[in-house]
Amino acid sequence: MSRELIDLAVERLREDFPNKSKSWIRRALIRFMKGTVKEFNENTWVVKGLTELGDRYPTYVVRFKDGRYYCSCFESSWGLRRKSEICTHIAAVILYRNYKRLDSDVYASVVNIECVDYYLEIPSELRGKVKVVKSVKVIDATDKLNPRHRVTYVIYSSEPLEVRAKLACDGDVRELSLKLTRTRRYIIELLR
Ligand SMILES: [Zn+2]
Repeated sequence: MSRELIDLAVERLREDFPNKSKSWIRRALIRFMKGTVKEFNENTWVVKGLTELGDRYPTYVVRFKDGRYYCSCFESSWGLRRKSEICTHIAAVILYRNYKRLDSDVYASVVNIECVDYYLEIPSELRGKVKVVKSVKVIDATDKLNPRHRVTYVIYSSEPLEVRAKLACDGDVRELSLKLTRTRRYIIELLR
């Protein structure tokens, strides 16, 4: 496992559950790092219990259904109390899924430009198939109303496509032919 990917996976977990305590995150991380999460099928995971974290059962089953996670620990004697919470078995599964996603391959192309006004257009028939993330940095604010930016576009897809795009940078409009090549997803997430 890569440290950088783990950090990102934890960061995403924190963003999704901003009200959860440090110890909740820590317990989820321990479960994940100890490799207790196994994928059973697309929507089901088996999480090995850890006595040091107070688990009473050797395994727990986490399911994802109708946009919600359910854990078999909800059905235990503590179930009524736990039902309203998201247990750390679920949090460990979310970490596992975040990590797996970050570690997966995507196909991407990068465009760097420096301009005051900018716009990138992807053909409408590719919307949904092709995604774009943009990172913008002001590099010259001498003219406060029209600062100059360094813009990085990452155009990516789950398939190796060739994408025709239109790029406007100030007065200049260009047609680009972008070949999306294989990279890892976390590289794109780092730009968010
Ligand atoms: Zn649980």
